[in-house]
Amino acid sequence: MQENDKEKKRLQKQRILVGIAIVLALALAIMMWLIINKPKVENEEENKPEIAYTELIKMLDDGTIEKIEMTTGSPNLKVKLVDEEKEKKAIVPSIQAFMELVQNKVESGVEINLEQKEPPVIKTIFSTFMSLIPTLLIVALFIMLFKMQGLGEKGKVYGVDESNKTDVTFDDVAGLDEEKNEMLEIVDFLKNPEKYKKMGAKIPRGILLFGKPGTGKTLIAKAIAGEASVPFISMSGSEFIEMFAGLGASRVRKLFEKAKKISPCIVFIDEIDAIGERRTNGVGAETENNQTLNQLLVEMDGFESDETVIVLAATNRPEMLDKALLRPGRFDRQITIAPPDLKGREAILKIHAANKKFAEDIDMADIAGDTAGFTGAELANVLNESAIIATRHKHEVITKQDLEDAVKKVTVGIEKHSRVMSDKDKRLTAYHEAGHAIVSKYLGTQTDVKEISIIPRGVAGGYTMYKTNEDKYYISKTEMEEKLVALLGGRAAEKVALDDISTGASNDLEVATGIAKDMITIYGMNDRLGPISLKVDEPYELQIFGEDIGDAVGEEIRKLIDTAYERAQTILINNMETLHLVAQRLMEKEIISAEEFEEFFR
Ligand code: ADP
Ligand code: ZN
Repeated sequence: MQENDKEKKRLQKQRILVGIAIVLALALAIMMWLIINKPKVENEEENKPEIAYTELIKMLDDGTIEKIEMTTGSPNLKVKLVDEEKEKKAIVPSIQAFMELVQNKVESGVEINLEQKEPPVIKTIFSTFMSLIPTLLIVALFIMLFKMQGLGEKGKVYGVDESNKTDVTFDDVAGLDEEKNEMLEIVDFLKNPEKYKKMGAKIPRGILLFGKPGTGKTLIAKAIAGEASVPFISMSGSEFIEMFAGLGASRVRKLFEKAKKISPCIVFIDEIDAIGERRTNGVGAETENNQTLNQLLVEMDGFESDETVIVLAATNRPEMLDKALLRPGRFDRQITIAPPDLKGREAILKIHAANKKFAEDIDMADIAGDTAGFTGAELANVLNESAIIATRHKHEVITKQDLEDAVKKVTVGIEKHSRVMSDKDKRLTAYHEAGHAIVSKYLGTQTDVKEISIIPRGVAGGYTMYKTNEDKYYISKTEMEEKLVALLGGRAAEKVALDDISTGASNDLEVATGIAKDMITIYGMNDRLGPISLKVDEPYELQIFGEDIGDAVGEEIRKLIDTAYERAQTILINNMETLHLVAQRLMEKEIISAEEFEEFFR
């Protein structure tokens, strides 16, 4: 409740500030308009001259003027004529020219009673003030803008999680058992900082979590705070990059000010690569980035020993980080959060299935088997999609089919029945997919086909799905080579059966080339180049391997791809009849299941 009130008050305050800013901006606009239009207004009304300038000069000669009254700095004169009671107004185009003229007249003997007045003090102050108003308004507007910026920032740091409490616990995090174990120590630090201090142990400062988006990095950071019942405050690295110079750095400073105030606590910085990118000597946005990073380093170094603040940061691109971030006392602990394995996936699915109704024949272990490589977020997404699909089909419970459709939707995108394929496209796609499937069948390391389809999904014209029931930590060279053959099976089928090739294979080629390149440059699987890693930060670093290293890598990638393409074509030529049959069936049915596919090989 209390947090709610605070949140409301904050929003109210923000709304008032926005209101004031709008009023100020309007006032400024009106002022500008008045200033631009001011001379006109004066001329038209009270300051209309009653004596024209030429007439005035004539009068000076005639001697019909009794007295001229003028105010310093003003072109407005009051002229008293000899035979008239009332003073008349006149305006001179140039005061200086007029004064010279009068001087000449006086010298040539004309008598002129010229009375010079100083402008009244109050009027001077007033006009000075008036001329300053636009400036003042602009300054006020800028101050407002900065204030609002600050408030918005508070909204993120101090606002939504004003209590900063989180009820996420380790029970909500599935499958990351070792990681959780490692974090237990941190939880204990946060709970009993005194115990560790007495023993002379240094409290860890920063922990970097490496891993793909959706692997649960935020979740585990929250769970640490939840387990230790300490506040959790977070920011995303991309938020630090601001358009106002220095604001990124000031945000970092504010975040840590707050953290120290509420310590012990957890500070979580998502996407730290956005600020922690290697520093450059660049200009503009880059130096802004450097400032933010420098501030972060200063803050990490500046903790007092009695402040128990643990900073967790997450990134998917550890190689991009400035090395200074990883020094002792900063983010000196690094934990990799990998996508879950079979058991982990089952555990995650079970957590997210808890609030949903499933048909009785559904076993989360099966789904876990079909979703190798999925992150926690993707698994949560699959279950959510299955519930949506079930609702749309007015099912009582989520059925096996709903779940399978959800898996497909998350992996390959949604079925596009609306995209009508021409017969020619259908034929091409059928041979392409049949090619992938048949080639894989003859490769020992490749998994069995689960489904072949020529129904367009997402950007793909068709797809061949493979069974995935094994989690692998290492992939052998043979397996990688055969993966290339399977990938090129689509293009090979187009070539051998239709003697024409299409653009449909572009993604296959991209993936295959990537694998071939990794085999050579990362995994050292090439005999000519040997077991060396050619992973470098800058291209010139490759030169230590000799001038022609680039050519050699290119030639070897080409050899790998060519060999694989040859093998795929050979397999298909030896199974030409099956290729035609499978493609034919695909054109008729559009989808072939694993069982049907096996029939062709009996
Ligand atoms: P990251 O920070 O790594 O991008 P998140 O922590 O934001 O990922 O994860 C997004 C969502 O995915 C979580 O809110 C949760 O619903 C789900 N999720 C991810 N990993 C797990 C896990 N290990 N156990 C349970 N749910 C998970
Ligand atoms: Zn393909």
